[in-house]
Amino acid sequence: RRHTYRYYLAVIVLRSSRPGEAARAAELMNRIPRPVPIINAGSGQDQHPTQALLDIYTLDRSFEEQGGIDGKVIGLMGDLKRGRTVRSLCYLMKNYRNVRLVLIAEQFALEPDIKAHLKENNIPFVDQARLTDVLPTLDAVYVTRMQSEWDTAGETRQINYADYSITPENLQRMKKTAVIMHPLPRGPEIAPAVDDDPRAVYWRQERNGMWMRVAIL
Ligand code: ASP
Repeated sequence: RRHTYRYYLAVIVLRSSRPGEAARAAELMNRIPRPVPIINAGSGQDQHPTQALLDIYTLDRSFEEQGGIDGKVIGLMGDLKRGRTVRSLCYLMKNYRNVRLVLIAEQFALEPDIKAHLKENNIPFVDQARLTDVLPTLDAVYVTRMQSEWDTAGETRQINYADYSITPENLQRMKKTAVIMHPLPRGPEIAPAVDDDPRAVYWRQERNGMWMRVAIL
C-alpha cells in the first residue's frame, strides 16, 4: 500500500483559556490554500487532547502486565466540571472494553455532554461516588486540582479536601497494583508524602507528556 506523506512548513500549537479556540482556528486554517495544522494544547474548560493521549499512554504502560486498560475500574476525582483533562480522557475510553468509570465529584460534577457521550458509547459510570467507599475497588485514580481560576464567588473554598485527596492513610486502602495519576500542577489533593509510593505515577506521567508531544510534533 502506498502512503502519501504531507509535510508542513509550520504548525500552530494553541493553548488558550477560551473554549473552542483550537477548533475555530483549525476551521480557519482549513480554508486557506496551504493549511497550517493546529495542535490543540488545551482549550478553555472544554478539551485537552494531547493530555488525554499521554494519560492513555500512561495507563496502558501501567497495566502492561495486567492485561492493559480493558476491564479496569478508573476513578476520576476532583474538579470534573471546570477541568478539561478528564473531559478529553473520557472520549478515549470508548477504545477499550469493559472499562468502568467512577466519578468522584459532587459540587464540580462532570458536565452532561460528556455523561451523554459515555452513555452513547456504553461506558458504564458511577456518578457522585465517595472516595472512601470506592477506593479499594479502583485500579487507577486520576486526581485533578480544583480549577479555582474559574471561581466567581470563592466556590473552591467550600470544598472539603478530605473527600477529594490522596493521603498516606488512604493509600493503605488502595489495591497494591493501583496507580495514582494527576495532570499537574498539584494542589492539596495529593499529599507530598504520597510521592514516594510506587503507585504514584504522576511524575512518570509528566515525562510521558514530553514524549507524547514529541511524537505528535
Ligand atoms: N495542566 C492541565 C491543564 O492544562 C491540568 C490543570 O491545569 O489542572 O488543563
